[in-house]
Amino acid sequence: MIEVSPTMSAQREAAAIAPGDPFAEPPHIVSLRREIRALCMEFPDPYWRDLDRRREYPEAFVRALTEAGWLAALIPTEYGGRGFGLQETAAILQEINQSGGYAGPAHAQIYVMGALLRHGSEEQKPKYLPQIASGALRLQAFAVTEPTAGSDTTRIETRAVRDGDHYLVSGRKIYISRVRNSDLMVLLARTAPRDEARPTEGLSLFLVDLRETGDRMRTRPLRMMMNNDTNEVVFDQLPVPAANLIGVEGRGFRHILDGWNAERILIAAECVGDGRWFVERASGYAKTRRVFGRPIGANQGIQFPLASAWAQLEAADLVARRAAARFDAGLPCGAEANMAKLLASEASWAAGNAAVDTLGGHGFNAAYDVERKFRETRLYRVAPVSNNLVLSYLAQHVLGLPRSY
Ligand SMILES: Cc1cc2nc3c(=O)[nH]c(=O)nc-3n(C[C@H](O)[C@H](O)[C@H](O)COP(=O)(O)OP(=O)(O)OC[C@H]3O[C@@H](n4cnc5c(N)ncnc54)[C@H](O)[C@@H]3O)c2cc1C
Repeated sequence: MIEVSPTMSAQREAAAIAPGDPFAEPPHIVSLRREIRALCMEFPDPYWRDLDRRREYPEAFVRALTEAGWLAALIPTEYGGRGFGLQETAAILQEINQSGGYAGPAHAQIYVMGALLRHGSEEQKPKYLPQIASGALRLQAFAVTEPTAGSDTTRIETRAVRDGDHYLVSGRKIYISRVRNSDLMVLLARTAPRDEARPTEGLSLFLVDLRETGDRMRTRPLRMMMNNDTNEVVFDQLPVPAANLIGVEGRGFRHILDGWNAERILIAAECVGDGRWFVERASGYAKTRRVFGRPIGANQGIQFPLASAWAQLEAADLVARRAAARFDAGLPCGAEANMAKLLASEASWAAGNAAVDTLGGHGFNAAYDVERKFRETRLYRVAPVSNNLVLSYLAQHVLGLPRSY
C-alpha cells in the first residue's frame, strides 16, 4: 500500500559492502540477506495481516524457513544444520522483520537450541538435532516464566522430582510462547529447594516431548497484544524421562544464562529490522502524502522523529554487530549484548511511534500494517527481559554500582 523507497534499501546495502569500510559486512552475509529477502517476498503484508487478524500461526512461513535450512542456522553441519555463528543468524532474523514479517513465531528454534548444543549429552544431540535441522521436529518452546516468580527466576516453584528413571513435573508457567506449535520444549524446574545462600542452584533444564504429555500437561491460550501463540501451561505430575535432563542436575540456571547473551543479541537484530521497516515505510508515505499543498515529509515535525529514530537504529545495530562478533569469537559479551538489546528495543519503539505519527489516521488502520508491527515491536522493551533489568545489569556489572535487587 505504501511504496518503500528503493533508494534507502539500496543505500544500506551499498554501505554494508563499501570497500574500505571497517564496519562493512562480509560478502557472504550480504548475499545471505538477499536470500532471506527473496524468501520473505513470498510472504507479503497481506499474509501477516490476515494471520494477525485470525490469530493464527504462520505455518507456511515457518515451513518455508525450515525447508530452506534457516531455522537450523546454529546447528552444526555434522547434525545437518547450517553451522552459522551469531552474526549470520542475526542477519537472518533482522531481514525477516525488516521485510515486514515477524520472526517472533519462529525465532525460539534458534535461541533455544543453545541449551541443547552446549549442554546436551552425546545421546541427546544425535537423537534430536538432525530431526530439528530437517524440520521433522520443532523446538519452538521455552518455559521459564511463572506467575509468582516474575523476573526473579530463582523463585520459580515448578518442581521436578526424581522417580526412578523419570522426573515428575508439577507447577504452572505463564506466557509460554508457541507451545501449541512445537514438538519439543525446554523447561526450567526446581529439583532442589531454594537455598538463600545459593538461590541459582537447584534448578534444572529438561527437554519435554510435547507429543507425549497427554492430560498431564494442559495449555490455555492467552489473548495477547500480538499474534504470538502465548499460553498458560500447567503440569500435573508430568513424567519426563531422566534421559531428557539437559546438562547437570541443579545447574540449569547456569545453563540458560549462557544462552541469554545470544538471545539478547538476536532480539536486538530483530528490533533493528523492525525499526528500519518503520522508518522506510513512513518515509515512503511522507514523500507522497500531500497536506496543505506539499508533502508532509517536507515538515521538520515529520522529518526529525524519523531521522532521530534512524540514527538510534544505526547506533544500536553497530553495538549489536559488535556483540555478535564477540560472541562468535568466544569473548565475554554480556555488556555488549545487554546494551544492544536495550538500545535496539528503544530505537525500534521510537521508530514505531514516529511511523504511527507520520501515517496519521492510517497509522491506526490495520490495512497499513504499521499498527501491527507497532504492537509486535513493543514486546521487546519487556521480554525476554525487561529493560529495567538490563539497566540493572549494566549498573552493577559494568559500572560497579551496588546490586539493586
Ligand atoms: C508475548 C509474550 C511472550 C512471552 N514468551 C515467553 C516464553 O516463551 N517463555 C517464557 O519463559 N517467558 C515468556 N514471556 C515472559 C517474559 O519473559 C516476561 O514477561 C518478562 O521477562 C518480564 O517478566 P514479568 O512479566 O514476570 O514481569 P515482572 O518481573 O513482574 O516485572 C514487572 C515490572 O517490574 C519491573 N521490575 C521488576 N523488578 C525490578 C527491579 N528490581 N528493578 C526495576 N524494575 C523492576 C520490570 O522491569 C517490569 O517493568 C513472554 C511474555 C510475553 C508478554
